[in-house]
Amino acid sequence: MALTGIQIFKLLPKTNCKECGVPTCLAFAMNLASGKAELDQCPYVSDEAREKLAEASAPPILPVEIGKGVRKVTVGGETVLYRHEKTFFNACAYAAVVGSDIPDADLETKLKAWNALQYERVGLNLRPELVAVNDVNGDAAAFAKVAKTVAETSEFNVILMTEKTDVMKAGIEACGFKNPLMCAATSANIDEWGALAKENNLPIVVRAESVEALQDLTDKLVGMGHKKIILDPGSREIKQALEDQVAIRRSALKNANRKLGFPTITFPCAMADNLEMETLISAMFTAKYGAVNVMSDFAGESIFPLLLERLNIYTDPQRPMTVTEGIYPINNPDENSPILITTNFALTYFIVSGEIEGSKVPCWLLIKDSEGLSVLTAWAAGKFSGDDVGMFVKKSGIMDKAKTTELVIPGYAAAIAGDVEEELPGWKITVGPREAAHIPAFLKEKTK
Ligand code: SF4
Repeated sequence: MALTGIQIFKLLPKTNCKECGVPTCLAFAMNLASGKAELDQCPYVSDEAREKLAEASAPPILPVEIGKGVRKVTVGGETVLYRHEKTFFNACAYAAVVGSDIPDADLETKLKAWNALQYERVGLNLRPELVAVNDVNGDAAAFAKVAKTVAETSEFNVILMTEKTDVMKAGIEACGFKNPLMCAATSANIDEWGALAKENNLPIVVRAESVEALQDLTDKLVGMGHKKIILDPGSREIKQALEDQVAIRRSALKNANRKLGFPTITFPCAMADNLEMETLISAMFTAKYGAVNVMSDFAGESIFPLLLERLNIYTDPQRPMTVTEGIYPINNPDENSPILITTNFALTYFIVSGEIEGSKVPCWLLIKDSEGLSVLTAWAAGKFSGDDVGMFVKKSGIMDKAKTTELVIPGYAAAIAGDVEEELPGWKITVGPREAAHIPAFLKEKTK
């Protein structure tokens, strides 16, 4: 159960030494309770208090790390039922299945095609993370070979899917170095597989016939010292599967049920017979509450919309996406190239810079910190005023790079032109287009 700020305060040293960056222990306690501070920021917490606080401040759904390398993912760690209550912290992961009997050449082709499914959006690389190797015939050597190929020849991390212990052991031997997800322990093998996961320090899926039955199994694993657990309530019918996901999340968050306080895995690949339907089901579980979603395949038209949905759902609604304030050269500008300015809202930056890039006109793009607001909102909120813009241009360093003394401001901020001119004597302030789509024509006309 989470502690309140006052309960946390009672466990702190109460010296108000300020070393944690806030003036008092009480302020630190409040920050800790609301998740805005880390316990490690206070160097003076006693071991006893640290133990109590660590237990109490653990998220109601424990985070679980899967894999290694650039496609390593952490799932779980969530604290709210609805994103607008605070934020979702760790984006769900997507997996596609390969059978253990897949011919080498087909596997190579698939991995190559799946690896190409990467998309740049708002400065982020969006891509799926996992390949689930499914044991189709109990052949441990074949299973291990496919797992090894995926782990060694691609960036993808691995889910080892089998019901047989010898096959699982072979899989772990082949790709254990990549922290694969074992899938899945059941009531029949929980002791043996629990020990196997512990011995190899691997995350493990626990599967039961119902949410109720899951709890005995997680209890057992936790008793063995496991924390890296992922839940599979066994439902493969859409309505029941959704109900189970909601029940698990509610129980963990609202009833503080630690037995269900783990991320979940879903199997859209077992709920539909075509990729379109699987994609729709995955879209549902992206929102509620599948932490790992396993599909039969990745195709551009299925994974791209899912990655965008995931980006939207797992973006912190309290923090607009921003880019860093500064000077951005586009299309190799020189000292005579035009200078444009806009706000640091990530979407604004990427749309404007994309249009400038597309115009092929070399430009300097100045990005002014507007706390992540778009042009019109920033102007209305006083975060993109004429004085501020003028002062920013002066201290930005653009005058060392360009001789141009003309600044193009966004059309939506036309009202600040006079104030900018006052702040930048000798400069010509030109009002640019309102819509980014009109920037290429505007620039071409200007540099004709
Ligand atoms: Fe209190 Fe620790 Fe912060 Fe010092 S560092 S003010 S003791 S919480």
